Amino acid sequence: MVESLLAPYAVSVSALGRAVEEAAPTGRSEFQRDRDRIIHSAAFRRLEYKTQVFVNHEGDLFRTRLTHSIEVAQIGRSIARRLRVNEDLVEAICLAHDLGHTPFGHAGQDALNACMKDLGGFEHNLQSLRVVDVLEERYAAFDGLNLTFETREGILKHCSLEHAAQLGNVGERFLKNQRPSMEAQIANLADEIAYNNHDVDDGLRSGLITLEQLSSVRLFAMHLEDVRKVYPQLPERRVVHETVRRMINALVSDLIEQTESNLRQYQPSSVAQVRNNHALVAFSSEMHTLNRELKAFLRTHLYRHYLVLRMSAKAQRIIGDLFNAFISDPRLLPPQFNAAAEADRVRSVADYIAGMTDRYAIREHRRLFFVEEA
Ligand code: MG
Repeated sequence: MVESLLAPYAVSVSALGRAVEEAAPTGRSEFQRDRDRIIHSAAFRRLEYKTQVFVNHEGDLFRTRLTHSIEVAQIGRSIARRLRVNEDLVEAICLAHDLGHTPFGHAGQDALNACMKDLGGFEHNLQSLRVVDVLEERYAAFDGLNLTFETREGILKHCSLEHAAQLGNVGERFLKNQRPSMEAQIANLADEIAYNNHDVDDGLRSGLITLEQLSSVRLFAMHLEDVRKVYPQLPERRVVHETVRRMINALVSDLIEQTESNLRQYQPSSVAQVRNNHALVAFSSEMHTLNRELKAFLRTHLYRHYLVLRMSAKAQRIIGDLFNAFISDPRLLPPQFNAAAEADRVRSVADYIAGMTDRYAIREHRRLFFVEEA
């Protein structure tokens, strides 16, 4: 990416820099350095064994948090390049956006949040920021990854006002009701495009949803019909893949067109103007409706499928059991957590559990609750 080709509304350099000052990188941009640090982190490698929708051991071809994050980055970069904004920053945000996810996907996050209800709560967006700000232990000169303000701001997608007030400069936009950079807005919608589409693919692969059911979703049905018309003999797996790729393409193209139209209308000439505008990165209203229909379908038929709910219930029991065991006796924590537990027992237990992969949590649960395991 050549910085001189960036649009005036793109982030070209880090305005607020890093919490601990460092010499400028040589041969790469600040945001490439952020991305590289994210890829080299332990939290990034753990994403390979964390649930997206299907628990890791349910099948080798389902998305994990890692493959999800890579798909988000791919979609985000395509959009960024077309809109002439900072592709490296978008990539860094996309690759880091789920670093704070617990094991077992949303079921795990809900369970940990319920355990922490009167203890400050647990929120995966905030935890992603905590991973890159505090929890990674890789560098001699600072805790965490010491990322730029812009990458950190992009990671913090949502935040309560109460939390925002405690977060310094990355929390300010929530208090001032401002938008984040174009790059952060793109990463946010790339996430949504990625998961809606890969959940259709994984849902069909698992057999929990069927092509027939999906035909009630207009966005899917229109592309399915096109594919069947052009390729009447195509085997079903390839029909699904071809339909999903066309949906992704339609969503990405619509997003770019609508965003270009918003840019023409509001003419932002700086990042500050992007922040003070309404969200500039958006779907057209028709696509927004179609996308909402797809999301609603997935919620009802996939995320609330009884087999998914059964797995979620098991996951919630595991997280709840682990939390209660460690809170009632912190001596059960591995020794590297002792110092942190002395300072803040609850938060260090939450950090330990949130960092677990699915299979590590299952094993740790066995080690704590089954006498024959050690
Ligand atoms: Mg995500």
